Amino acid sequence: MKYVYGPVLSWRLGTSLGVDLISSNKACSFECIYCQLGKGEGPVVKRSIFVPTKELISELESLPPLGIDYITLSGCGEPTLAANLGEVLSEIKKRLKQPIAVLTNSTLMQDEKVCSELSLADKVIAKLDVPDEKSLEKINQPAPGITFAAVLDGIKRFAAEYPKKLALQIMFVSQNKEKAAAMAQLAKEINPIEVYLNTPLRESDAKPLSANEMQKIKKLFFPLKVVGVYDKEKSEVIPMEEDQTEKRRPRRKKQ
Ligand code: SF4
Repeated sequence: MKYVYGPVLSWRLGTSLGVDLISSNKACSFECIYCQLGKGEGPVVKRSIFVPTKELISELESLPPLGIDYITLSGCGEPTLAANLGEVLSEIKKRLKQPIAVLTNSTLMQDEKVCSELSLADKVIAKLDVPDEKSLEKINQPAPGITFAAVLDGIKRFAAEYPKKLALQIMFVSQNKEKAAAMAQLAKEINPIEVYLNTPLRESDAKPLSANEMQKIKKLFFPLKVVGVYDKEKSEVIPMEEDQTEKRRPRRKKQ
Protein backbone atom coordinates (compact mmCIF):
# COMPACT_ATOMS: atom_id res chain seq x y z
CA MET A 1 0.00 0.00 0.00
CA LYS A 2 1.36 3.43 -0.92
CA TYR A 3 -1.50 5.76 -0.15
CA VAL A 4 -3.81 3.92 2.24
CA TYR A 5 -2.80 3.07 5.82
CA GLY A 6 -4.26 1.66 9.01
CA PRO A 7 -6.87 0.93 10.12
CA VAL A 8 -5.95 2.80 13.29
CA LEU A 9 -7.93 3.46 16.43
CA SER A 10 -8.53 7.20 16.41
CA TRP A 11 -9.54 8.88 19.67
CA ARG A 12 -11.62 11.26 17.54
CA LEU A 13 -13.26 8.94 15.02
CA GLY A 14 -13.17 5.32 16.22
CA THR A 15 -11.63 2.78 13.83
CA SER A 16 -10.33 4.76 10.92
CA LEU A 17 -8.77 3.93 7.56
CA GLY A 18 -6.22 6.58 6.57
CA VAL A 19 -5.94 7.95 3.05
CA ASP A 20 -2.87 10.07 2.35
CA LEU A 21 -3.13 12.53 -0.54
CA ILE A 22 0.49 13.65 -0.04
CA SER A 23 2.21 10.29 0.56
CA SER A 24 5.83 11.28 -0.08
CA ASN A 25 7.91 13.92 1.67
CA LYS A 26 6.02 16.08 4.13
CA ALA A 27 4.16 18.93 2.40
CA CYS A 28 2.46 21.42 4.69
CA SER A 29 1.80 25.16 4.94
CA PHE A 30 2.69 25.05 8.67
CA GLU A 31 5.79 23.90 10.56
CA CYS A 32 4.13 23.24 13.92
CA ILE A 33 6.56 22.93 16.81
CA TYR A 34 4.93 19.63 17.82
CA CYS A 35 4.67 18.05 14.34
CA GLN A 36 5.07 14.28 14.55
CA LEU A 37 6.28 14.20 10.93
CA GLY A 38 9.39 16.21 11.84
CA LYS A 39 10.74 19.00 9.67
CA GLY A 40 9.92 19.04 5.98
CA GLU A 41 11.73 20.88 3.24
CA GLY A 42 10.04 24.16 4.15
CA PRO A 43 6.40 25.20 4.06
CA VAL A 44 4.33 24.58 0.92
CA VAL A 45 1.35 26.74 -0.09
CA LYS A 46 0.74 25.92 -3.72
CA ARG A 47 -1.83 23.23 -4.47
CA SER A 48 -0.69 20.41 -6.73
CA ILE A 49 -1.33 16.74 -7.41
CA PHE A 50 0.89 14.58 -5.23
CA VAL A 51 -0.92 11.27 -5.78
CA PRO A 52 -2.80 10.31 -8.97
CA THR A 53 -6.51 9.80 -8.18
CA LYS A 54 -6.69 6.62 -10.29
CA GLU A 55 -3.84 4.91 -8.42
CA LEU A 56 -5.25 5.87 -5.04
CA ILE A 57 -8.73 4.62 -5.92
CA SER A 58 -7.44 1.33 -7.30
CA GLU A 59 -5.55 0.81 -4.04
CA LEU A 60 -8.79 1.38 -2.12
CA GLU A 61 -10.65 -1.01 -4.42
CA SER A 62 -8.09 -3.73 -3.76
CA LEU A 63 -8.80 -3.79 -0.01
CA PRO A 64 -10.72 -6.61 1.63
CA PRO A 65 -13.91 -5.58 3.51
CA LEU A 66 -12.83 -3.74 6.67
CA GLY A 67 -14.83 -3.01 9.81
CA ILE A 68 -14.16 0.71 10.01
CA ASP A 69 -16.10 3.70 11.34
CA TYR A 70 -14.46 6.41 9.23
CA ILE A 71 -12.22 7.00 6.24
CA THR A 72 -9.86 9.83 7.17
CA LEU A 73 -7.89 12.03 4.81
CA SER A 74 -4.69 12.87 6.65
CA GLY A 75 -1.09 11.62 6.44
CA CYS A 76 2.20 13.21 5.34
CA GLY A 77 1.03 16.83 5.41
CA GLU A 78 -1.91 19.06 4.62
CA PRO A 79 -4.59 17.30 2.50
CA THR A 80 -6.09 20.53 1.10
CA LEU A 81 -2.78 21.13 -0.71
CA ALA A 82 -3.79 18.24 -2.97
CA ALA A 83 -5.45 19.76 -6.03
CA ASN A 84 -7.41 16.52 -6.53
CA LEU A 85 -8.99 16.60 -3.05
CA GLY A 86 -12.54 17.11 -4.39
CA GLU A 87 -12.13 14.46 -7.07
CA VAL A 88 -10.81 11.91 -4.56
CA LEU A 89 -13.64 12.63 -2.12
CA SER A 90 -16.25 12.13 -4.88
CA GLU A 91 -14.63 8.89 -6.07
CA ILE A 92 -14.44 7.46 -2.54
CA LYS A 93 -18.09 8.39 -1.94
CA LYS A 94 -19.12 6.45 -5.04
CA ARG A 95 -17.43 3.30 -3.78
CA LEU A 96 -17.50 3.16 0.01
CA LYS A 97 -20.37 3.72 2.41
CA GLN A 98 -18.38 4.84 5.45
CA PRO A 99 -18.35 8.56 6.36
CA ILE A 100 -15.26 10.54 5.39
CA ALA A 101 -13.38 13.00 7.62
CA VAL A 102 -10.67 15.43 6.52
CA LEU A 103 -8.06 16.68 8.99
CA THR A 104 -6.94 20.13 7.87
CA ASN A 105 -4.70 22.84 9.27
CA SER A 106 -7.30 25.38 8.04
CA THR A 107 -4.81 27.55 6.12
CA LEU A 108 -6.55 27.12 2.75
CA MET A 109 -10.09 27.54 4.01
CA GLN A 110 -10.27 31.11 2.76
CA ASP A 111 -10.26 29.65 -0.75
CA GLU A 112 -13.86 29.03 -1.86
CA LYS A 113 -12.87 26.17 -4.13
CA VAL A 114 -11.12 24.40 -1.25
CA CYS A 115 -14.20 24.89 0.96
CA SER A 116 -16.52 23.54 -1.67
CA GLU A 117 -14.27 20.46 -2.07
CA LEU A 118 -14.11 20.04 1.72
CA SER A 119 -17.90 20.16 1.88
CA LEU A 120 -17.97 16.78 0.09
CA ALA A 121 -16.62 15.23 3.30
CA ASP A 122 -18.92 14.28 6.16
CA LYS A 123 -16.72 15.94 8.77
CA VAL A 124 -13.99 18.57 8.47
CA ILE A 125 -11.71 18.69 11.50
CA ALA A 126 -10.07 22.11 11.36
CA LYS A 127 -6.98 22.93 13.37
CA LEU A 128 -6.93 26.13 15.39
CA ASP A 129 -4.29 26.14 18.14
CA VAL A 130 -4.00 29.82 18.93
CA PRO A 131 -6.12 32.96 19.36
CA ASP A 132 -3.71 35.55 17.89
CA GLU A 133 -1.07 36.27 15.26
CA LYS A 134 1.93 36.21 17.58
CA SER A 135 1.07 32.76 18.90
CA LEU A 136 0.45 31.45 15.37
CA GLU A 137 4.01 32.45 14.45
CA LYS A 138 5.34 30.78 17.57
CA ILE A 139 3.39 27.50 17.58
CA ASN A 140 2.43 26.84 13.94
CA GLN A 141 5.24 28.70 12.12
CA PRO A 142 3.17 29.34 8.96
CA ALA A 143 4.44 29.88 5.45
CA PRO A 144 4.96 33.56 4.63
CA GLY A 145 1.65 35.27 3.82
CA ILE A 146 -0.52 33.07 6.05
CA THR A 147 -2.05 35.17 8.82
CA PHE A 148 -4.10 34.35 11.87
CA ALA A 149 -6.89 36.66 10.68
CA ALA A 150 -7.15 34.81 7.35
CA VAL A 151 -7.14 31.37 9.00
CA LEU A 152 -9.87 32.38 11.45
CA ASP A 153 -11.93 34.01 8.71
CA GLY A 154 -11.73 30.83 6.60
CA ILE A 155 -12.90 28.66 9.51
CA LYS A 156 -15.76 31.01 10.37
CA ARG A 157 -16.95 31.19 6.78
CA PHE A 158 -16.92 27.39 6.45
CA ALA A 159 -18.79 27.09 9.77
CA ALA A 160 -21.44 29.54 8.52
CA GLU A 161 -21.90 27.69 5.24
CA TYR A 162 -21.61 24.10 6.48
CA PRO A 163 -22.52 24.25 10.20
CA LYS A 164 -23.17 20.50 10.48
CA LYS A 165 -19.72 19.52 9.17
CA LEU A 166 -17.17 21.56 11.09
CA ALA A 167 -15.30 20.21 14.10
CA LEU A 168 -12.36 22.05 15.68
CA GLN A 169 -9.12 20.53 16.83
CA ILE A 170 -6.78 22.30 19.23
CA MET A 171 -3.32 21.06 20.18
CA PHE A 172 -2.20 22.22 23.60
CA VAL A 173 1.47 22.32 24.57
CA SER A 174 3.22 24.35 27.27
CA GLN A 175 3.67 27.29 24.84
CA ASN A 176 -0.10 27.87 24.33
CA LYS A 177 -1.68 26.52 27.52
CA GLU A 178 -2.00 30.07 28.90
CA LYS A 179 -4.21 30.83 25.90
CA ALA A 180 -6.76 28.16 26.79
CA ALA A 181 -9.45 30.60 28.02
CA ALA A 182 -9.12 32.72 24.87
CA MET A 183 -9.31 29.56 22.75
CA ALA A 184 -12.46 28.45 24.54
CA GLN A 185 -14.02 31.84 23.88
CA LEU A 186 -13.12 31.63 20.18
CA ALA A 187 -14.46 28.07 19.93
CA LYS A 188 -17.78 29.22 21.38
CA GLU A 189 -17.98 31.95 18.74
CA ILE A 190 -17.29 29.44 15.96
CA ASN A 191 -19.71 26.92 17.50
CA PRO A 192 -18.43 23.70 15.85
CA ILE A 193 -20.25 20.38 16.17
CA GLU A 194 -17.40 19.08 18.34
CA VAL A 195 -14.07 20.23 19.76
CA TYR A 196 -11.13 17.83 19.97
CA LEU A 197 -8.55 18.77 22.58
CA ASN A 198 -5.19 17.26 21.87
CA THR A 199 -1.69 17.22 23.37
CA PRO A 200 1.23 15.37 21.71
CA LEU A 201 1.10 11.85 23.16
CA ARG A 202 2.91 10.45 20.10
CA GLU A 203 6.58 10.97 19.21
CA SER A 204 7.10 14.73 18.91
CA ASP A 205 9.61 17.42 19.90
CA ALA A 206 7.02 18.95 22.21
CA LYS A 207 6.17 17.73 25.70
CA PRO A 208 2.51 16.82 26.31
CA LEU A 209 0.39 18.45 29.00
CA SER A 210 -0.73 16.13 31.80
CA ALA A 211 -4.20 14.59 31.98
CA ASN A 212 -4.93 16.92 34.88
CA GLU A 213 -3.95 20.04 32.93
CA MET A 214 -6.05 18.90 29.95
CA GLN A 215 -9.03 18.23 32.21
CA LYS A 216 -8.87 21.80 33.55
CA ILE A 217 -8.70 23.14 29.99
CA LYS A 218 -11.63 20.97 28.94
CA LYS A 219 -13.88 22.59 31.56
CA LEU A 220 -13.32 26.01 29.95
CA PHE A 221 -15.07 24.81 26.77
CA PHE A 222 -18.39 23.98 28.47
CA PRO A 223 -21.11 23.80 27.08
CA LEU A 224 -19.52 22.76 23.75
CA LYS A 225 -19.25 19.05 23.01
CA VAL A 226 -15.60 18.24 23.77
CA VAL A 227 -13.50 15.09 23.37
CA GLY A 228 -10.03 15.04 24.91
CA VAL A 229 -7.12 12.86 23.86
CA TYR A 230 -6.91 11.42 27.39
CA ASP A 231 -10.62 10.54 27.42
CA LYS A 232 -10.33 7.50 25.20
CA GLU A 233 -8.93 4.09 26.00
CA LYS A 234 -5.45 3.37 24.70
CA SER A 235 -6.30 0.13 22.91
CA GLU A 236 -4.92 -0.36 19.41
CA VAL A 237 -6.22 -1.82 16.16
CA ILE A 238 -3.79 -3.93 14.09
CA PRO A 239 -3.03 -2.06 10.85
CA MET A 240 -2.69 -3.86 7.50
CA GLU A 241 0.92 -2.70 7.06
CA GLU A 242 2.64 -1.44 10.20
CA ASP A 243 5.47 0.50 8.48
CA GLN A 244 3.10 2.44 6.19
CA THR A 245 0.97 3.32 9.21
CA GLU A 246 3.85 4.31 11.51
CA LYS A 247 5.27 6.64 8.83
CA ARG A 248 2.13 8.79 9.16
CA ARG A 249 1.23 8.00 12.76
CA PRO A 250 4.19 7.37 15.08
CA ARG A 251 3.68 5.22 18.15
CA ARG A 252 2.54 6.69 21.44
CA LYS A 253 5.27 7.82 23.82
CA LYS A 254 5.73 5.66 26.91
CA GLN A 255 4.13 7.46 29.89
S1 SF4 B 1 -0.35 21.13 10.33
FE1 SF4 B 1 -0.04 18.99 10.84
S2 SF4 B 1 1.37 18.19 9.28
FE2 SF4 B 1 1.44 20.43 9.19
S3 SF4 B 1 3.18 20.96 10.47
FE3 SF4 B 1 1.34 21.08 11.74
S4 SF4 B 1 1.18 19.08 12.69
FE4 SF4 B 1 2.62 18.87 10.98
